[in-house]
This record gives sequence, C-alpha cells and structure tokens, in this order.
Amino acid sequence: MTNISQRNDLLSQLDPQTRADLILSMSDFDFEAGHEFGEVGDDISHIYFVNHGIISAVAMMEDGQSAEAYMVGCEGFTGVTAWQVPSETSVRFFCHLAGNALRIKAAKLRELASESEALRAVLAGYSAALQIELEQTAPCNAIHSVPQRFAKWLLRAHDRANGDTLFMTQDFLAKMLGVQRTTVSDAAQTLAATGAISYSRGKVHIKNRSALERASCECYVAQEADIVDL
Ligand SMILES: [Zn+2]
Repeated sequence: MTNISQRNDLLSQLDPQTRADLILSMSDFDFEAGHEFGEVGDDISHIYFVNHGIISAVAMMEDGQSAEAYMVGCEGFTGVTAWQVPSETSVRFFCHLAGNALRIKAAKLRELASESEALRAVLAGYSAALQIELEQTAPCNAIHSVPQRFAKWLLRAHDRANGDTLFMTQDFLAKMLGVQRTTVSDAAQTLAATGAISYSRGKVHIKNRSALERASCECYVAQEADIVDL
C-alpha cells in the first residue's frame, strides 16, 4: 500500500500521519479515456482523489442533453458532498484523460474526517472553492459565447493535462459544453483563426496559450484562482 501513487494536491497538503491514516483506507483506481461511472440518483459509495488524468462531472438531462458541471484533476476529488453526509450523485462521471486516482469508501472518509480536524480543513477548503466555481458557471453559461466558454474549457483541461495535445471528439466536446456538434465545430474554427489552437480528427493542439487566454471569458481566471490557489 505504501507504493501507491500519491500525487493528489490535497493529500500532499496533509501532515504525514493524517495522510498515512487516510491512505491505509484507499485503493488504486486506474481509468482509461472514455470510461464512465456513476448513475444519477445512485448513492455516492466511493470518493476519488485524482492523481493524474481528468474526470468530468456531467449533468445529464432527461432528453439526453448534457453539460459539464465541473472538472477534476490532481487538485481535487469527486463526490464533494459525500465526505460530510451520505449523498446521492447528481452527475455522471466521464474520464476524458486517462489517469489514476485513489479511491476510498465515502463512509470511511466521513469517519476519518470526523476524527481529524486537519483532514476536515483540507476537504472543506476544496469543497468551498468548488462551490464558488459552480456559482460562477451558471452565469458564464448564460452570458458568455460558446467560443469563449470553449477556450475556458480548453485552458482548464490544459492545466490538468501533460502536454499541449488533447484528444477529444466533437461529440464529447458537445456533451461537455452543452451544445450541438456543429456549434463546437464553429467555435473550434473561431479559436483556430486566432492562432490559439489547431483542431482535426479528435485532436486539439494548444498552439498559443496566451492567445487562448485572450479568447476565453474572464471566468477562467476567476475560477482557477479559487481552485488552484488552495
Ligand atoms: Zn465565462
């Protein structure tokens, strides 16, 4: 158990004893791109602390439409409500960059958190930052254009990925942004015209990060400051 990967930022904020106690109850979970888990309405049985890779929490509508609610990389964990109280999931999780997480039973994490002020502080800090992000996401979706939101989404994925090339189909991007595939195609062309990215056959290459930041709405800076500066 001692040789399992521990690259999650929140785990590294813990003192060695608290971290060791937590890791005793965790197991490795490798995930591939395209893997999905969690049905809306299910009890959250496990919480995943991401070491590397990206998991998106996606809201699913009854008519089949969907949109990403939030994205988790090595800065966070899934199932943020369930470390405090038993909860049902309101989202489905899509792994869009292969990686690894440490998995713990939600009930066990609640037990450990009730015994450790240090652990509670770290979990609460991330939960609060995510709450602020979610409060900004609704107005962003209502006010800002699809190319702006697409640029923001790419910046956030780029922050959590290794390298400048992201593999994702138009269908996947449409699911994340809550738009039609043709709208994704138009937004990609808009961003490509600025020199920020190139996009072809399910591959987005970040060519000019500064240009992508200029193309994004202001929400990228606001949201990442809260999440990353924990
Ligand atoms: Zn925005």
